[in-house]
Amino acid sequence: PAILGLLGGGQLGRYFAISARTMGYRVWVLDPDPDSPAGQLADRHLCAGFDDRDALGELAAHAAVITCEFENVPAASAEWLARHALLRPDPRALAVAQDRIVEKRFLEAAGVALAPWLPIDGVDAAKAALPDWKFPAILKTARLGYDGKGQQAVTAPDGVVRAFRQLGEVPCVLEQKVDLEREVSVVLARDPHGRCRSFPVAENVHRGGILHLSRVPARIPEPVEAQAEAIAQRIAEQLDYCGVLAVEFFVTGAGELLVNEIAPRPHNSGHYTLDAVTVSQFEQQLRAVCGLALAPAELIAPVAMLNLLGDLWPSDGRLPDFSRVLEQGRARLHLYGKPGARPGRKMGHLNLLGPPGEPDAAQVVRLAESLAADLAAGAGRGSG
Ligand code: ATP
Ligand code: MG
Ligand code: MG
Repeated sequence: PAILGLLGGGQLGRYFAISARTMGYRVWVLDPDPDSPAGQLADRHLCAGFDDRDALGELAAHAAVITCEFENVPAASAEWLARHALLRPDPRALAVAQDRIVEKRFLEAAGVALAPWLPIDGVDAAKAALPDWKFPAILKTARLGYDGKGQQAVTAPDGVVRAFRQLGEVPCVLEQKVDLEREVSVVLARDPHGRCRSFPVAENVHRGGILHLSRVPARIPEPVEAQAEAIAQRIAEQLDYCGVLAVEFFVTGAGELLVNEIAPRPHNSGHYTLDAVTVSQFEQQLRAVCGLALAPAELIAPVAMLNLLGDLWPSDGRLPDFSRVLEQGRARLHLYGKPGARPGRKMGHLNLLGPPGEPDAAQVVRLAESLAADLAAGAGRGSG
């Protein structure tokens, strides 16, 4: 059987590996963490850094195609792999998605609306008074931020330099704080021939910069949903993208769609597809990068996806008490097998499906929040 190479061994890669196994492929995972969720399930785990030429050489020599679940692969590694093997998506997509300045310039050139922003590459740029700038704003490091890490809120012009220093004087973007009506995301797959299939739009609720819950269908009018899909497809086309791409959007009070950022891989907000869509984002990723037919992605039932963070785990290393979750007929519990629970660490998620005929996700969202509150209360008791 063909070997598929995977850059990154996190939970996104774990589900890719499961899909690949289901469809008869072997999977080799490159990730430096010996306990990585995907490495645990891989046919071979190359436990090395993303710049390790021996490991990259092994992957290139054996894998029919190499894809990623992690965008921060060093550019030199991605370019080397693309020269010696089939890397999908290609190095340009990774380069665009791993640097907010490059990403925003690319998106503007593609005609996509963004929140007002400025590159801040030094103290001078940070000091340049920004007289016309509207605060509040957010200063974000250009590279390596996730789950809201590498961000500082800025409420006045003189706060920019302070925030820039606090973030370590690395290249940043200053972004106007958007008056959010809600947040949505589009996950799509694009095959080597340019054929695209989008998943239903997810509506996302964040807490402390981390995704808390996604609900599908999103509470947006049908034309806005169609517009979000069209924007995501335009981005994929402009990158001549192959694989699964996620696009995060802000929906403003005026109903306008602004792109927040893109991810060149499956996305946390697409986890609902594991149980509530006719094909998952991970199987679709496999189909896309292997040049297989993409499946139509149809929602089976309204769904709420709840992230399970390490905050819910007792400090003694046991699992939280999931008995109420497990009693639900329409709940699917997913745990990633990570050995160490830390606050803010994504340990698993829960998909709650509504009755198929139900028009919206209101009921399952209420149930998800109630289960989340119970789990949080349980964790509180545990850590007393
Ligand atoms: P991810 O884990 O999605 O990669 P990240 O660290 O790249 O997260 P962002 O997506 O930039 O962070 O921001 C995290 C969240 O913070 C957003 O989903 C949104 O809720 C809020 N946020 C970020 N930028 C803005 C903004 N300009 N206006 C309003 N809210 C924002
Ligand atoms: Mg991000
Ligand atoms: Mg984000």
